[in-house]
Amino acid sequence: MRRFLVIALIAATCQQCSYSQSSSNSNKMDSTEKKSAENLNPVYSKTDTSKVVKTEEEWKKILPKDVYYVARQKGTERPWTSKYENFYEKGTYYCAACGNPLFKSDTKFDSGCGWPSFYEPISKGSIIYTPDNTHGMTRTETQCGRCKAHLGHVFEDGPPPTGLRFCINGVVLDFATAQEAEKKYNEKKD
Ligand SMILES: [Zn+2]
Repeated sequence: MRRFLVIALIAATCQQCSYSQSSSNSNKMDSTEKKSAENLNPVYSKTDTSKVVKTEEEWKKILPKDVYYVARQKGTERPWTSKYENFYEKGTYYCAACGNPLFKSDTKFDSGCGWPSFYEPISKGSIIYTPDNTHGMTRTETQCGRCKAHLGHVFEDGPPPTGLRFCINGVVLDFATAQEAEKKYNEKKD
Protein backbone atom coordinates (compact mmCIF):
# COMPACT_ATOMS: atom_id res chain seq x y z
CA MET A 1 0.00 0.00 0.00
CA ARG A 2 2.77 2.34 1.03
CA ARG A 3 4.63 1.50 -2.13
CA PHE A 4 1.57 2.19 -4.18
CA LEU A 5 1.26 5.62 -2.56
CA VAL A 6 4.86 6.46 -3.41
CA ILE A 7 4.32 5.43 -7.01
CA ALA A 8 1.11 7.46 -7.17
CA LEU A 9 2.89 10.51 -5.75
CA ILE A 10 5.75 10.20 -8.21
CA ALA A 11 3.27 9.83 -11.05
CA ALA A 12 1.44 12.95 -9.86
CA THR A 13 4.70 14.91 -9.72
CA CYS A 14 5.64 13.78 -13.20
CA GLN A 15 2.30 14.88 -14.53
CA GLN A 16 2.81 18.34 -13.08
CA CYS A 17 6.20 18.55 -14.78
CA SER A 18 4.84 17.62 -18.17
CA TYR A 19 1.96 20.09 -17.84
CA SER A 20 4.33 22.96 -17.20
CA GLN A 21 6.72 21.91 -19.96
CA SER A 22 4.80 20.69 -22.96
CA SER A 23 2.18 18.20 -23.92
CA SER A 24 4.75 15.40 -24.25
CA ASN A 25 3.63 12.23 -22.53
CA SER A 26 7.05 11.63 -21.03
CA ASN A 27 6.99 9.39 -17.98
CA LYS A 28 10.49 10.11 -16.75
CA MET A 29 10.88 9.51 -13.03
CA ASP A 30 12.71 12.73 -12.47
CA SER A 31 12.68 15.50 -15.03
CA THR A 32 15.80 17.11 -13.60
CA GLU A 33 17.78 13.99 -14.48
CA LYS A 34 19.16 14.54 -17.94
CA LYS A 35 21.24 11.38 -18.06
CA SER A 36 20.24 9.41 -21.12
CA ALA A 37 21.11 6.18 -19.32
CA GLU A 38 18.13 6.58 -17.06
CA ASN A 39 15.67 6.83 -19.90
CA LEU A 40 16.91 3.73 -21.67
CA ASN A 41 17.67 1.73 -18.59
CA PRO A 42 14.81 -0.32 -17.12
CA VAL A 43 16.72 -1.33 -13.97
CA TYR A 44 17.64 2.25 -12.97
CA SER A 45 15.98 3.14 -9.67
CA LYS A 46 17.05 5.28 -6.72
CA THR A 47 14.57 3.54 -4.40
CA ASP A 48 14.48 -0.12 -5.46
CA THR A 49 17.06 -2.01 -3.41
CA SER A 50 16.58 -5.46 -4.96
CA LYS A 51 19.73 -6.90 -6.55
CA VAL A 52 20.12 -6.53 -10.30
CA VAL A 53 21.43 -9.50 -12.26
CA LYS A 54 21.77 -9.16 -16.03
CA THR A 55 23.86 -10.80 -18.71
CA GLU A 56 26.66 -8.80 -20.29
CA GLU A 57 24.63 -8.73 -23.51
CA GLU A 58 21.71 -7.13 -21.68
CA TRP A 59 23.93 -4.57 -19.98
CA LYS A 60 25.47 -3.66 -23.31
CA LYS A 61 22.02 -2.79 -24.64
CA ILE A 62 20.92 -0.58 -21.74
CA LEU A 63 24.12 1.27 -20.76
CA PRO A 64 25.83 4.08 -22.67
CA LYS A 65 29.17 2.94 -24.10
CA ASP A 66 31.35 4.79 -21.61
CA VAL A 67 29.37 3.52 -18.62
CA TYR A 68 29.43 -0.05 -19.98
CA TYR A 69 33.19 0.09 -20.49
CA VAL A 70 33.88 1.03 -16.86
CA ALA A 71 30.97 -0.71 -15.10
CA ARG A 72 31.03 -4.04 -16.89
CA GLN A 73 34.49 -4.29 -18.46
CA LYS A 74 36.30 -2.83 -15.44
CA GLY A 75 37.71 -0.03 -17.53
CA THR A 76 39.22 3.14 -16.10
CA GLU A 77 38.43 6.65 -17.28
CA ARG A 78 41.38 8.92 -17.97
CA PRO A 79 42.37 10.91 -14.84
CA TRP A 80 41.23 14.55 -14.55
CA THR A 81 38.46 13.97 -17.10
CA SER A 82 35.43 13.52 -14.84
CA LYS A 83 33.07 16.43 -14.32
CA TYR A 84 32.79 15.21 -10.71
CA GLU A 85 36.54 15.34 -10.06
CA ASN A 86 36.47 19.00 -9.10
CA PHE A 87 32.83 19.27 -8.08
CA TYR A 88 31.60 20.13 -4.60
CA GLU A 89 27.84 20.60 -4.75
CA LYS A 90 25.83 19.17 -1.86
CA GLY A 91 23.97 16.01 -2.71
CA THR A 92 24.17 12.29 -3.26
CA TYR A 93 26.10 10.20 -5.76
CA TYR A 94 24.35 7.17 -7.27
CA CYS A 95 25.50 4.23 -9.40
CA ALA A 96 25.05 5.32 -13.03
CA ALA A 97 24.23 1.74 -14.03
CA CYS A 98 21.42 1.02 -11.56
CA GLY A 99 20.69 4.13 -9.41
CA ASN A 100 21.93 2.64 -6.12
CA PRO A 101 22.95 5.42 -3.64
CA LEU A 102 26.73 5.19 -3.11
CA PHE A 103 28.23 8.32 -1.52
CA LYS A 104 27.22 11.58 0.12
CA SER A 105 28.87 14.78 -1.04
CA ASP A 106 30.08 15.59 2.48
CA THR A 107 32.39 12.55 2.38
CA LYS A 108 33.98 13.72 -0.88
CA PHE A 109 37.46 15.18 -0.66
CA ASP A 110 40.17 16.46 -2.94
CA SER A 111 42.67 13.61 -3.08
CA GLY A 112 44.62 15.04 -6.01
CA CYS A 113 44.58 11.62 -7.70
CA GLY A 114 42.51 12.70 -10.72
CA TRP A 115 39.35 10.77 -9.91
CA PRO A 116 36.39 11.64 -7.64
CA SER A 117 37.39 10.53 -4.14
CA PHE A 118 35.35 9.78 -1.02
CA TYR A 119 36.30 8.60 2.45
CA GLU A 120 33.13 6.68 3.29
CA PRO A 121 30.27 4.96 1.43
CA ILE A 122 26.68 5.99 2.16
CA SER A 123 25.92 2.66 3.86
CA LYS A 124 27.57 -0.64 4.63
CA GLY A 125 25.86 -2.60 1.87
CA SER A 126 26.14 0.05 -0.82
CA ILE A 127 29.53 -1.25 -1.95
CA ILE A 128 31.06 -4.71 -2.44
CA TYR A 129 34.80 -5.20 -1.89
CA THR A 130 36.80 -7.66 -3.99
CA PRO A 131 40.56 -8.38 -4.01
CA ASP A 132 42.11 -7.28 -7.31
CA ASN A 133 45.56 -8.56 -8.21
CA THR A 134 45.63 -7.42 -11.85
CA HIS A 135 48.29 -5.12 -13.36
CA GLY A 136 50.90 -6.43 -10.89
CA MET A 137 49.26 -4.62 -7.96
CA THR A 138 47.42 -5.76 -4.86
CA ARG A 139 44.34 -3.60 -4.65
CA THR A 140 40.76 -3.77 -3.43
CA GLU A 141 38.18 -3.29 -6.12
CA THR A 142 34.90 -1.55 -5.27
CA GLN A 143 31.68 -2.65 -6.95
CA CYS A 144 28.11 -1.43 -6.67
CA GLY A 145 26.28 -3.39 -3.96
CA ARG A 146 23.15 -3.62 -6.07
CA CYS A 147 24.31 -4.37 -9.64
CA LYS A 148 28.01 -5.21 -9.15
CA ALA A 149 29.15 -2.49 -11.54
CA HIS A 150 32.87 -1.84 -11.29
CA LEU A 151 33.30 1.56 -9.60
CA GLY A 152 37.00 1.85 -8.86
CA HIS A 153 39.25 0.94 -5.92
CA VAL A 154 39.64 1.70 -2.24
CA PHE A 155 43.00 2.56 -0.67
CA GLU A 156 44.08 2.97 2.94
CA ASP A 157 45.62 6.41 2.57
CA GLY A 158 42.49 8.52 3.01
CA PRO A 159 41.66 11.21 5.58
CA PRO A 160 40.03 10.70 9.00
CA PRO A 161 37.71 9.42 10.29
CA THR A 162 37.98 6.29 8.12
CA GLY A 163 41.49 6.62 6.67
CA LEU A 164 40.05 5.28 3.42
CA ARG A 165 40.18 6.72 -0.08
CA PHE A 166 37.49 5.48 -2.44
CA CYS A 167 38.86 6.33 -5.85
CA ILE A 168 35.85 6.19 -8.17
CA ASN A 169 35.40 6.56 -11.92
CA GLY A 170 33.14 9.59 -12.40
CA VAL A 171 31.49 8.03 -15.44
CA VAL A 172 29.75 5.43 -13.24
CA LEU A 173 28.42 8.13 -10.89
CA ASP A 174 25.14 10.03 -11.14
CA PHE A 175 24.64 13.06 -8.95
CA ALA A 176 21.47 14.55 -7.45
CA THR A 177 21.41 17.68 -5.29
CA ALA A 178 20.31 17.69 -1.66
CA GLN A 179 17.01 19.35 -2.61
CA GLU A 180 16.20 16.58 -5.06
CA ALA A 181 17.04 13.94 -2.45
CA GLU A 182 14.96 15.76 0.18
CA LYS A 183 12.00 15.85 -2.16
CA LYS A 184 12.23 12.09 -2.60
CA TYR A 185 12.53 11.58 1.16
CA ASN A 186 9.39 13.60 1.81
CA GLU A 187 7.54 11.68 -0.87
CA LYS A 188 8.47 8.46 0.91
CA LYS A 189 7.35 9.77 4.31
CA ASP A 190 3.82 10.66 3.22
ZN1 LIG B 1 24.74 -0.29 -9.53
